[in-house]
Amino acid sequence: MQLLTYPIIGRDLTTDADFMDLALRIAVDAGTRGEVPIGAVVVHEGEVVAFAANRRERDQDPTGHAEVLALRQAGRRLGSWRLNDCTMFVTLEPCPMCMGAALNARLGRLAFACRDPKAGAAVSLFALGNDDRLNHRLIVSEGVRREQASALLSQFFAGLRNPEPADAKAQSLHRLFHGSPIAVASVELRAEARLAEVNPGAEAA
Ligand SMILES: [Zn+2]
Repeated sequence: MQLLTYPIIGRDLTTDADFMDLALRIAVDAGTRGEVPIGAVVVHEGEVVAFAANRRERDQDPTGHAEVLALRQAGRRLGSWRLNDCTMFVTLEPCPMCMGAALNARLGRLAFACRDPKAGAAVSLFALGNDDRLNHRLIVSEGVRREQASALLSQFFAGLRNPEPADAKAQSLHRLFHGSPIAVASVELRAEARLAEVNPGAEAA
């Protein structure tokens, strides 16, 4: 199995913060395309095996959440729908649908950055990762890069209320992460290209 690499990061990703930073960069890029900025990364034995941004608007797909897309991609890449040995990093607490997908994937561990008091199903409204009535439990951890993820979402929704020119919005989202706009915007495109190269039959993230 060939694994993804991320030349744009310039170093190995090893810590929860590293993987969440990648999810945040993917989320920022989605935000500049008008999607609610949420990103997800699936890690297996220390290697990133899947990542996706929210694509609901682009695909007009009500199930096109970052987590669902990343879990599907991880299953394809690993050749197994059972993801017991995987951790999924996501920038926002998953909704009930995505927690359902994680349970169906037998996901080993979920790490999310900030809570979603209106739809969160990991700790906020439900605790679907730790419910004895269900046939799987997963380890849930939260809080790594909480401030950054929260600021990203706040800024995105503030922008919806007070629209600024698209270019300015992109610039201000990118400034959140002190990244150069060009470098950050190219993350997902380069990552998708890499995925296609590694796995030509796979649908884009
Ligand atoms: Zn969801």
